[in-house]
Amino acid sequence: MLKFRTFRGGIHPPDSKITAGKPIEKAKIPANVIILLHQHVGAPCKPLVKEGEKVKAGQKIGDSDSFVSAPVHSSISGVVKEISTQQSPIGREVQGIVIESDVRAESARMEAIDPATASKREILTRIREAGIVGLGGAAFPTSVKLSPPEGKEIDTVILNGSECEPYITADHRLMLEQPDKIVKGVGIIMNVLDVDKGFIGIEDNKKDAIKRMREAVEREGDEGIEVFSLKTKYPQGEAGSLIKTVLNRETPSGSHSYDIGVLVQNVATAKAIHDAVYEGAPLIERVVTVTGDVKEPKNLLTRIGTPFYDLIEECGGFKSDVGKIVCGGSMLGVAEFGNVPTIKSTGCILVLDREKSKTPEERACVRCGMCVDVCPTGLMPTILEKLARARRFEECMDYHILDCMECGSCAYVCPSKIPIVQLIRYGKEEIKRRE
Ligand code: SF4
Ligand code: SF4
Repeated sequence: MLKFRTFRGGIHPPDSKITAGKPIEKAKIPANVIILLHQHVGAPCKPLVKEGEKVKAGQKIGDSDSFVSAPVHSSISGVVKEISTQQSPIGREVQGIVIESDVRAESARMEAIDPATASKREILTRIREAGIVGLGGAAFPTSVKLSPPEGKEIDTVILNGSECEPYITADHRLMLEQPDKIVKGVGIIMNVLDVDKGFIGIEDNKKDAIKRMREAVEREGDEGIEVFSLKTKYPQGEAGSLIKTVLNRETPSGSHSYDIGVLVQNVATAKAIHDAVYEGAPLIERVVTVTGDVKEPKNLLTRIGTPFYDLIEECGGFKSDVGKIVCGGSMLGVAEFGNVPTIKSTGCILVLDREKSKTPEERACVRCGMCVDVCPTGLMPTILEKLARARRFEECMDYHILDCMECGSCAYVCPSKIPIVQLIRYGKEEIKRRE
């Protein structure tokens, strides 16, 4: 049994999953949504509507001719108020469509498709038309990911249900509450790729989800699907770590998982694929964990484009003096400076009070080597941070800086509180800018 295999390094931060027992609640329809035209990897969309136009929930309102892109849809019924520059929760300025709700429930859906009779082309077109992107945070267009380059043979699909980031419980609740849809979704992925082996990897701190998913596989799954219990360790959910744990395959430096025959998708993405195919539903809502220092932390089924403050308000508001609002968990999250809208990849809004938001004082490196011990990619974080700080970018390349997945494990253990990840990120951005 492969059950106790794991990946190199990693850390064990407190999981702080205070919403694990909170069933998914439908959030209120917001008065306004802001649908960003660039909320995925690839080309931004162009608007397909004009100011003053009426739209329905589910109506496509932005698209692109580029292969690597994904259309966007209105998540509510209402009127286009303006199309203007907006702040994205991942720290960019992008064009967005502001829609004011008309409080009606008018929605636009596509015809359902029977995956047993539909062609692969039809399924891929549907996944694209539904605007599906990787919902685990990567936001890579799913129809593109399911079309590997010529000559790349995929033999295994791994569904990522590890949710290793502290605080976040959106995928956990989805696996408990809608396991059959996830299993049917992975079945569609396997059929599109002609793959007969699929794993659903779930960390062993979610035993209830492991049980529920195994029961769903019995009911709805192909014979080749297996639920795999993963040791709880951060960053188990990162693709390379997951592939290493489940299949004992290494992703070589500078390559992609399809180079070693594997495709990794998130459980929420599989559920979105199910909805698009079986129900004709475009991606206009998702589960967001709103947690930390709010009065009543919750898992909310939210319309994409809902302002963060609406969701915080729905959780009773701030519990104390707010220090930081983070999009994502405490390890990979991005601090926000305003009332930004949710996007497809927003799985968590984390509120931290002033005390928890303080930046620790940085001291000199004591050469303890702890950052090296925990790096899952086998990098030398202590050398990389020094080279990036000194702007010696060519030498950073010698130490494989671009392989850093920015998991934050090194900074987490550093006793000198050196902002290692920020320095590495700076080095990577500079290298990419110069290229
Ligand atoms: S160097 Fe990068 S990959 Fe390694 S622990 Fe630090 S952030 Fe993670
Ligand atoms: S963990 Fe911090 S103090 Fe220790 S070697 Fe790495 S950078 Fe230096």
